[in-house]
Amino acid sequence: MIEQVRDTLNRPLRDLRISVTDKCNFRCQYCMPAEIFGPDFEFLPQHKLLSFEEITRLTAIFTSLGVGKIRITGGEPLMRKDLPSLIRMIRQVEGVHDIAMTTNGSLLARHAKALKEAGLDRVTVSLDSLDDERFGKMNGRGYHVSDVLKGIEAAAEAGLSIKMNMVVQRGVNDQDILPMARYFREQKHTLRFIEFMDVGNSNGWKLDQVVPSSEIVKMIHEEMPLEPIDPNYYGEVASRYRYVGSEEEIGLISSVTQAFCSTCTRARLSAEGKLYNCLFASIGSDLRAPLRDGQSDEEIRELIREIWEKRDERYSEIRLNDTPGLVKRSKVEMSHIGG
Ligand code: SAM
Ligand code: SF4
Ligand code: SF4
Repeated sequence: MIEQVRDTLNRPLRDLRISVTDKCNFRCQYCMPAEIFGPDFEFLPQHKLLSFEEITRLTAIFTSLGVGKIRITGGEPLMRKDLPSLIRMIRQVEGVHDIAMTTNGSLLARHAKALKEAGLDRVTVSLDSLDDERFGKMNGRGYHVSDVLKGIEAAAEAGLSIKMNMVVQRGVNDQDILPMARYFREQKHTLRFIEFMDVGNSNGWKLDQVVPSSEIVKMIHEEMPLEPIDPNYYGEVASRYRYVGSEEEIGLISSVTQAFCSTCTRARLSAEGKLYNCLFASIGSDLRAPLRDGQSDEEIRELIREIWEKRDERYSEIRLNDTPGLVKRSKVEMSHIGG
């Protein structure tokens, strides 16, 4: 039986983001800076990771509470061995109607076909620059733009639907906004610009490094006119714009300047089985122990329900109100782009 649980702010639980590994082959400065995630950093040992069976079992429990969309992420999800098997297992769970994966794309060329055959619907590929030198620096490991482009090509050939993510940091890659927009418009892949966020504790976040989405829209609009389009569904994180006179679009994920907590329907499961109510939560609830201690599906379901029903997190909205220099939502409407 499927039932829709809601939190204290009446937000339904609809999406589950599953991190399948804490490891990554990149060292993006804004996420896993090499100084901190160095050779001595201790990643989770295999036995602490949820097994594919455990992930699938939890997925089925989550779907019984309203989840229909699954996103596989990490770390870099393609660092987890045999990922297509997990996709195949999740695909068989009743109630799952969409499976997506976020990846840095560097290993995608090798795996795209198998992932699609296993039942993956969509990939979001992260790429922050088309300039090889800048990209190599940003990913911290000298990976080439061509490594990612080959992955995107393979994903398209396999028939996966593709979106692109670009984190924009002022003074780091803001000069790449227009080249990226032009390139992915031509490739017909929606590019989503993400405001640099203060995730984790180590990325040295500063407000002046955030390029507000309104500025990005204005910049692109001056060269390639844009018009706003309606969200596809309740809780969509990106605001969307279409290039006038075409089908191609861009998205803006404005978690800093225009928080979207009021429609946030996403739960996050870490690689070691902790459930987080918010990207910025500091404490997660352990689901691995109940799984391994022999609790029944019904008991675990009640545990998850209780956690969601108590949920009151809305970090980005609070940050918006508490950060001096941030203009509040009502003032950052993007209407100055010509509409
Ligand atoms: N490794 C995969 C990747 O990079 O696509 C999946 C995990 S990564 C943590 C998921 C997304 O978060 C990526 O698109 C990445 O660019 C974005 N991200 C990471 N740190 C960020 C930050 N500080 N601000 C905004 N977005 C960030
Ligand atoms: Fe790795 Fe993705 Fe984080 Fe970059 S953003 S370090 S690719 S997990
Ligand atoms: Fe959701 Fe937390 Fe992000 Fe707000 S800050 S949109 S509650 S994940």
